[in-house]
Amino acid sequence: MDVLAVTDFPDIRIKSLIQSAHEGSILLLPREGGYLVRIYVELDKLNENERVSSRNITIDRLIAAAQRILHPYILEVKEVAWWSVYEIGQRLCDKFDDVPDAEVASRLPHIFIAGDACHTHSPKAGQGMNVSMQDTFNLGWKLSSVLLGRCAPKLLHTYSAERQAIAKELIEFDREWAKMLSAPLKSLTDGEGVEPAEVQRYFRQARTLHCGNGDHVQAVAHLRRTRLSASGQGLVIGMRFHSAPVIRLADAKSVRLGDTTKADGRWRMFAFADRQAPSARSSRMRALCGFLADSPQSPVHRYTPAKADIDSVIDVRAVFQQSHCELNLEAMPQFLLPRKGRYGLRDYEKLFCPDLKGGNDIFDMRGIDRNRGCVVVVRPDQYIAHVLPLDAYADLWPSSMASCFQKLERADLFAAVEEGSTPRFLLRTL
Ligand SMILES: Cc1cc2nc3c(=O)[nH]c(=O)nc-3n(C[C@H](O)[C@H](O)[C@H](O)COP(=O)(O)OP(=O)(O)OC[C@H]3O[C@@H](n4cnc5c(N)ncnc54)[C@H](O)[C@@H]3O)c2cc1C
Repeated sequence: MDVLAVTDFPDIRIKSLIQSAHEGSILLLPREGGYLVRIYVELDKLNENERVSSRNITIDRLIAAAQRILHPYILEVKEVAWWSVYEIGQRLCDKFDDVPDAEVASRLPHIFIAGDACHTHSPKAGQGMNVSMQDTFNLGWKLSSVLLGRCAPKLLHTYSAERQAIAKELIEFDREWAKMLSAPLKSLTDGEGVEPAEVQRYFRQARTLHCGNGDHVQAVAHLRRTRLSASGQGLVIGMRFHSAPVIRLADAKSVRLGDTTKADGRWRMFAFADRQAPSARSSRMRALCGFLADSPQSPVHRYTPAKADIDSVIDVRAVFQQSHCELNLEAMPQFLLPRKGRYGLRDYEKLFCPDLKGGNDIFDMRGIDRNRGCVVVVRPDQYIAHVLPLDAYADLWPSSMASCFQKLERADLFAAVEEGSTPRFLLRTL
């Protein structure tokens, strides 16, 4: 229930899990606006084959249960903005499309399901809508890439493979989480139940799941996991690209790198520079830009349709190590200042520097090797497809990853990382 209430409970404006000795538990979430509060009250278990509607549960019963749980604190409900009673069910479909596993090699999917239609669980992790939207983000870029003729239709098989694995992980978390939230306190029983510290630890453990940075390890079809930095903060293949503050070179504006890209179906390459100034002859960043701009092997050239803007399929961004005050825009590779659109206007928004003044150096935050730099290839749904040294041109768009693009013959998608080879060079890189 969402209520306006008067209470002497001091943590009414802090997300709280309140476990009473004998009256059950509530989850309390302060709502926007400063006054409203959501209270999840867990009621009795239903008998087998019983439906919640047969219990005729009223709002007064909910309020009374919340008051008992909060006792000795008082809870005077002044107004109920919304309330509902529902049954928690943990359910997961085997496939999120219409092709059974045995027929994947011979049939393309034509029907897809997403969201609560294929996975449901308790609302206590606050993930149902989030995960549902990520399902459709995943499906959206794949459908549009196939419909635009950029990618082979086989790409569509990866939707179910990737998202079903994520939903499974979420439901496993939720099963444990829901059990913990309704368990009695260990200190009040003969050892059965949970301690608050255990609950906090479990929630913290799953924090990447809650903030949408969930580990896609098993979930990103055809990718292998590689942890790139010993500190664990690095850029990990199969995880979502983790944003950080940076300064945009052209206008010295502080922005978040992840927020500078739109969800528009384009692939991104974030090139993190080596120590050299980009004007230096020995700059690896300069050499990379030369390759991307001029080489017939450049994936940017190979997959960008004639007459389209140079960044219309693969959008390359650069992050330098120097402060924005030290770099001269005129000395930048022209590839990073492309002229676009009807008037050939220059795009000034592809060059970034660390936020040194704010103490947020993205190179330190993500554990990037300052001597070698690196390139991070990011899928349209922001998951990292590949991480490699600035000068590993041949591996930049390996045939297995490139095969998702329509022009190529092989269509087993994004098998970007051959097991065994990538971890070694990635460890050297970051
Ligand atoms: C109390 C509660 C709190 C929650 N809190 C959170 C939260 O904090 N964070 C979070 O991420 N998630 C939360 N969730 C989960 C979230 O609401 C769902 O996961 C999300 O709404 C699923 O979206 P959906 O589009 O898949 O399904 P729905 O939102 O259920 O949309 C399906 C739509 O289809 C319509 N429909 C059904 N049958 C037909 C038909 N035959 N013809 C036409 N239309 C039809 C329905 O009316 C509905 O509008 C909460 C859920 C509950 C119950």
